[in-house]
Amino acid sequence: MDYVKLRFLADHSLADALSYELNKLGAEGVSVVDKTELAGVYHDKGELNYALDDYLDGLPDRAEVEGYFRYADSNEANDASSADNPLLRVAEDDYEGLLYEARDYTSLSQLDLLARLAAELESYKQNLGGSYEFIGSEIVKEEDWANNWKSYYEPLALSPRLTVCPSWIDYPDARPEEIVIRIDPGQAFGTGYHESTEISAFFLDQLQKHKPDFTTQARALDLGTGSGILAIFMARLGVPEIEAIDIDPQAVATAKENFSFNGLDWSDQPQAGTLSVYTGELADTRGEFDLIVANLIASLHLDLAAAYREKLRPEGRIILSGIIDERMPAVRKKMAEVGLILEEAHYKRGWWTLLAARKEDLDQQLC
Ligand code: SAM
Repeated sequence: MDYVKLRFLADHSLADALSYELNKLGAEGVSVVDKTELAGVYHDKGELNYALDDYLDGLPDRAEVEGYFRYADSNEANDASSADNPLLRVAEDDYEGLLYEARDYTSLSQLDLLARLAAELESYKQNLGGSYEFIGSEIVKEEDWANNWKSYYEPLALSPRLTVCPSWIDYPDARPEEIVIRIDPGQAFGTGYHESTEISAFFLDQLQKHKPDFTTQARALDLGTGSGILAIFMARLGVPEIEAIDIDPQAVATAKENFSFNGLDWSDQPQAGTLSVYTGELADTRGEFDLIVANLIASLHLDLAAAYREKLRPEGRIILSGIIDERMPAVRKKMAEVGLILEEAHYKRGWWTLLAARKEDLDQQLC
């Protein structure tokens, strides 16, 4: 099944009405990306999803509204279910004809649909103010909906040595010292493209470089593993025992797939000397760790601060990531309160990543 996507830009005041009318005209799906609306949600929550602030900056000021209309072959076009769809009502037995008809946005069917839309929206415009404009249309293959995002990803160097490569791309020219891992994030977070992942990987690389024994003997925790990306980097850097956990079972399933892609054996239960992966949170882990990587959000770091301190072995290190600029002072203060001192802090495009150790360990180093 393919779809015709009709694209619009609308003022905030008209975005909902436009979406509603597209549905009424037979759209099977309508997507609205409204910067004004999203910025409001962001503001209300004080802190929200990863990348939202970067994402907002990249959006146009007006809402992007897209309506997806079923674009069937000639047989499906004769179905009763498509009888109300103005894009399909012109369907002829000739598939090529339909293809031409649907692609050409000046075609009668689309003109008809756009004219009806304009008529319906006239009263909304009068009452709500604002305007909208039709940008264009395109045919979207159904399988592309699931895979479109893949075209945005390329191999990416996160540090001098660590490179993440999408699993569907070849990367034959790796430098000898380069550690290349392969990731298909699926629905999980962790392509490597987010600053919070990137700088976490950078810190892992630095730690290994400056304290090779530390990483090759460490018992490590990847808290909020997502796609498994940071656990895989740790494994490839030589960390012998890793627990990768996530509260989201879907992320755990994805991490398992990525471990396998990267030739790593894993177990469902923590075991000495293995990479294990399971659904859970910090309280579900047993024992202490030499290395904890936690790419979460600031509010979780605040809640978990005391537990982090408890879970860190003497001389251990914790990487805290996913901290938006505004929350950095609160996180720093909380860490100091529980006895975790920052050794390094790295800022990139609105996001902080911190490397911290137990206060007594750093005090000892200074003596
Ligand atoms: N580690 C990956 C990376 O750096 O790209 C993914 C990080 S993603 C920002 C955060 C992950 O933490 C998500 O997969 C989410 O499901 C998980 N998560 C959120 N709260 C959690 C919690 N309390 N305990 C464990 N995992 C959590």
